[in-house]
Amino acid sequence: MGADLIIENAAEIVTCAPRAGEARPGVLTGASLVIEQGRITHLGPAERVAAELAAKGRTPASFPRLDAAGKAVLPGFIDAHTHLVFAGDRVDEFSRRLAGEGYLEILRHGGGILSTVRATRRASREELLRLGRKRLDAMLAHGVTTVEAKSGYGLDRDTEIRQLEVACELGCLHPVEVVPTFLGAHAVPEEYRGRPSAYIDFLIAAVLPEVAARGLARFCDVFCETGVFSPAEARRLLRAAADLGLGLKIHADEMSPLGGAELAAELGAVSADHLLHVSPAGIAALARAGVVAVLLPMTAFSLREPYAPARAILEAGGTVALATDFNPGSCYSESIPLLSALGAVALGLSAEEIVAALTIHAAAALGIAGTVGSLEVGKQGDLVVLDAPSYRHLPYRLGVNLVETVVKRGEIVCDKRNPGGTAC
Ligand SMILES: [Zn+2]
Repeated sequence: MGADLIIENAAEIVTCAPRAGEARPGVLTGASLVIEQGRITHLGPAERVAAELAAKGRTPASFPRLDAAGKAVLPGFIDAHTHLVFAGDRVDEFSRRLAGEGYLEILRHGGGILSTVRATRRASREELLRLGRKRLDAMLAHGVTTVEAKSGYGLDRDTEIRQLEVACELGCLHPVEVVPTFLGAHAVPEEYRGRPSAYIDFLIAAVLPEVAARGLARFCDVFCETGVFSPAEARRLLRAAADLGLGLKIHADEMSPLGGAELAAELGAVSADHLLHVSPAGIAALARAGVVAVLLPMTAFSLREPYAPARAILEAGGTVALATDFNPGSCYSESIPLLSALGAVALGLSAEEIVAALTIHAAAALGIAGTVGSLEVGKQGDLVVLDAPSYRHLPYRLGVNLVETVVKRGEIVCDKRNPGGTAC
């Protein structure tokens, strides 16, 4: 699986390869990058790459060529937190929130997540596939080559399983790679109103084992929040998931400092997400345990909540990834440009930190940093070409999509260079 490609003349190739003591994200100029059968096989000064190819009896001209003159080449973006598969929308709720109603208040009155649950339970598998494909197309056009996709709009056995099946199928049908996460504990369903602990019991007994046995999800996630699932309930579910071989994620400390970050550290979760109200002890625990902080500033923006303390997390030695949180309620957007802009302006991240947060650190938040997230020999040939000479334009061009070409496993899967290109 995968194609051959050579990329030449780039103004810069941003490798995002982790390098100790290096402030810049590994920027190469005058470099070529070769992909063979979907994997990066050569990367470095153009003359050296040509010599390496000659030693194998090949020439640069024998490869399909992408001329990146005047443009920056980056690893494909990884959106490490999305709720990709759902039906319906919540445009009315958005208006209600703008008029002053709170998110948890709307949820308490049967709105919020529960209205998406009703729409998703009613939707056929074909409808969910159709909607998912369209969303992946939009993500691809923003340079996303890998996306995490959570369930959590079924809150019953059949719909949760269907959402995960659809996520897996979308990953096979579409160039964007899909990493599925089981989020059955996204909210307490109407059938279990006031009995969150009994619902956790149900998930552990009746849904998790099938999810694990069929390999339908790589991670288990939980919405650990006041009025939703307590840290004790979250711990019980996540321990059961870990016993079945799933990796762990937590929606942590979003609305209140409930100790979700500390729990993520205690359980060795791969990431703790949101963290708007993370405590200083939680920040220290994340850094100590090497849990990636996945920050979702578009959600804070949309909910008019304070932003996560990104600088404090970095200063404590933590790792920060940025993700869209694409979902119909609190952030209906796949916009990497808006995410980058908020990363800079609202979270105070540098362009270097933003690029790393969208690539190598996002890969770490999905446990796949060994195969994607940076441009290095041996890794998958997933990359984006910006219609700009430097990665520094990414947050600078506020809200503007600079992605011109997207390559997945060596294949050009999105091309906006000319009207005859591969539309995406
Ligand atoms: Zn979420």
